[in-house]
Amino acid sequence: PAPLSTWARNIAPSPTLAVDAKAKTLIAAGEDVCGFAAGEPDFDTPEHIKEAAIKALRDGKTKYAPTPGIPPLRDAIARKYSEFYKIPTQASQVIVSPGGKFSCYLAILATCSAGDEVIIPAPYWVSYPEMVKLAGAVPVPVLATDETGFKLTPAALEAAITPRTRLLILNSPSNPTGAVYTRAEMEALTAVALRHNLYLMSDEIYEHLLYDGAAHVSPASLSAAARERTIIVSGFAKTFAMTGWRLGTIIAPAPIAKAISELQSQMTSNATTFAQWGALAAYTEPEKTQAALAAMLEKFDQRRTFLHAELNKIPGIKCLLSQGAFYLFPNISSFGIEDRIFCERLLDEAKVAAVHGSAFGAPGFIRISYATSEEILAKGVSRLAQFCAGLS
Ligand code: PLP
Repeated sequence: PAPLSTWARNIAPSPTLAVDAKAKTLIAAGEDVCGFAAGEPDFDTPEHIKEAAIKALRDGKTKYAPTPGIPPLRDAIARKYSEFYKIPTQASQVIVSPGGKFSCYLAILATCSAGDEVIIPAPYWVSYPEMVKLAGAVPVPVLATDETGFKLTPAALEAAITPRTRLLILNSPSNPTGAVYTRAEMEALTAVALRHNLYLMSDEIYEHLLYDGAAHVSPASLSAAARERTIIVSGFAKTFAMTGWRLGTIIAPAPIAKAISELQSQMTSNATTFAQWGALAAYTEPEKTQAALAAMLEKFDQRRTFLHAELNKIPGIKCLLSQGAFYLFPNISSFGIEDRIFCERLLDEAKVAAVHGSAFGAPGFIRISYATSEEILAKGVSRLAQFCAGLS
């Protein structure tokens, strides 16, 4: 056998990227597949952001930048957190990284040593457990089902904490469920984490994709004590339809931000320089940014309510209404088929690509992304209904 490392042998490749890649291959081969597996907005990046990046290229912003990011972007991000979220933030606490995914990995590497335990509420984003393992730490998933709105309860958190627990990962709005923690829920979880001296990694990448008047609450906004223990991860991909740009952010207490910058300096250097100059336009031209975001949110919201209603019409499917992100996470356990098999057959027999819940640590569910056109959504959900009718 090839002498691969334990890291290489133990890593599970991203199942969401794999299902999406399979669907895209089928579509490229001429198959009429409805793709509900993608974790990216189907909209294009707003024009003013693209124009700013093009100008940056023309102006020769093609060289290395400072490791933690170009100063005006770090300033703009610090201002956003200070003014919009009332989280006092200095530019020195801001790191711009090559993607929210890499931001998460850096946050974990900066806080966890070998053997440390990391509590990951399930359903979780697929990459958290693998990143924790790559840091030599131990993922501890704690499952919350649709019975608690897919939300971790303070009691379940308390029960999972051991003397080795180092970090709690929170992700609100959530991928894959779209669940959004209320202020009271966030306060209760943060109180438990602080009592046990844990770090919090708050993945807020879907912070602006909210519906039904839901508000985003960062644990760092709750108290000075919480701020001292919280690393906020976010990025440009989901809010500004910039998945391919690979730009993430981190807001951390000063000593952690310094450590993260040093890690990044050895692992990748700065995020792409002209991409950062493009992203800056999201802040320097706020009216255009707001208009683009509002247009995207209106579409997402319509699709969310449509999909939720249609899913619940299907006998055997039970689906909660989400308040954030662009996913629904229906319960398919009544069909008595393993969710992975359900999704494989759904793709093979009905030409609908969705991701099995067990990829997110939640067997018995499937994840449907509504970041796709209304036509595909309508066609796909009617195929799903037919498929389910054939099962029962
Ligand atoms: N965090 C969550 C919860 C996500 O769903 C994603 C993308 O799917 C990311 C982080 C990473 O986003 P990116 O690396 O594209 O910025």
